[in-house]
Amino acid sequence: MIKKPFVTLDLVKNITEKYPTPFHIYDEKGIRENARNLKKAFSWNKGFKEYFAVKATPNPYIMQILKEEGIGADCSTIAELVLSEKVGLRGSDIMFSSNVTPKEDFIKASELGAIINFDDITHIDFFNQFLDMPDTVSCRYNPGGNFEINNQIMDTPSEAKYGFTRKQLTEGFLKLKSLGVKHFGIHAFLASNTIKNEYYPKLAEILFETAVELQKETGVHIKFINLSGGVGIPYRPEDEPSDIFVIGEGVREAFERILVPNGMGDVEIYTELGRYMLAPFGHLVSKLIHFKHTYKEYAGLDACAANLMRPAMYGAYHHITVLGKENEPCDHMYDVTGGLCENNDKFAINRMLPELEIGDYLVIHDTGAHGFSMGYNYNGKLRSSELLLRENGEVKLIRRAETLDDYFSTFDFSEFFKK
Ligand SMILES: *Cc1c(COP(=O)(O)O)cnc(C)c1O
Repeated sequence: MIKKPFVTLDLVKNITEKYPTPFHIYDEKGIRENARNLKKAFSWNKGFKEYFAVKATPNPYIMQILKEEGIGADCSTIAELVLSEKVGLRGSDIMFSSNVTPKEDFIKASELGAIINFDDITHIDFFNQFLDMPDTVSCRYNPGGNFEINNQIMDTPSEAKYGFTRKQLTEGFLKLKSLGVKHFGIHAFLASNTIKNEYYPKLAEILFETAVELQKETGVHIKFINLSGGVGIPYRPEDEPSDIFVIGEGVREAFERILVPNGMGDVEIYTELGRYMLAPFGHLVSKLIHFKHTYKEYAGLDACAANLMRPAMYGAYHHITVLGKENEPCDHMYDVTGGLCENNDKFAINRMLPELEIGDYLVIHDTGAHGFSMGYNYNGKLRSSELLLRENGEVKLIRRAETLDDYFSTFDFSEFFKK
């Protein structure tokens, strides 16, 4: 698949007259179309709902767009809960899937009426010490072992810190039932960034079978099954993108085969996608400010790993397009770097690109999720602005860039030498 940016050189030149690089920019049109397709793919399920994983792109303007598309919020911290509250989400529009949860976070989630998804059996008593159990509660399941699709290991749940064991799930449901809970949910997240269409259907099969067992063992009403996040996107041009309609159909097939014959055809399907909802619809736009010719050819950008951590942290591939040179041959090899004093601050290693010049604008693709949000301030590098390319072509500032004053705002300098 050819990876084409949603911005042009002319547009970026226009933008930089007002908002200098680096910046993250998001594509409203793409976000809305994708959200509508997800809903269409699961429209066979009456109660289907997507809860956007706020941690992927915690920006109220983005959350507002998703809210207009009928999407809720999946939160795991008090800050994410407050953001959701700010955009007017409440009650069953919020899923609280957190772990190692502090008391204050449970209190805030409870105040908003969010659906609580317990990560651990001990959290039931912890919660119940200071809060009343709501009518509807969910538990996160970890089946342990390896998670395989067609004999290929996708991930190792037994090494993951999340969720209840199978035995704890039964115990937990019985306990919650005795505490007055009426409706139950089951949640699991077993593999991340999976572009195989089989991921959700396989996960659904595991959860549907577990739901049938739990219903028989405990007699509770299972209201929903939450397939969580994990549907991936094609970061590399050669990756085969997943097909949300094939995925939705695969889940439907498992639903008809496992839940319906057991009288559980009223179960609602929920998702907590982050990456799939936003990653392709964000770019990090940066300017080439230095070359360096030593043992390798280095192209130095005004962005760094503080703006996009994934390459440094996971060795993740992010495609790069040089604006205005989309049709030129990629016949030069570069390491594309940022300016952190960390040798892993490289957006690309040995990447073939068109011949670069100082002042070129580079688009780093697929930064709309887990991009800005994983940013940090190492070396005192400041967080960039975030911009929104609206459907009508206008560009709106949806978060200003940090300033040095922001960076220093947690110090009290008054005790120090004054000029
Ligand atoms: C991170 C996360 C998600 C979203 O994951 P993606 O890979 O972005 O889809 C969903 N649910 C929970 C509980 C998460 O921690």
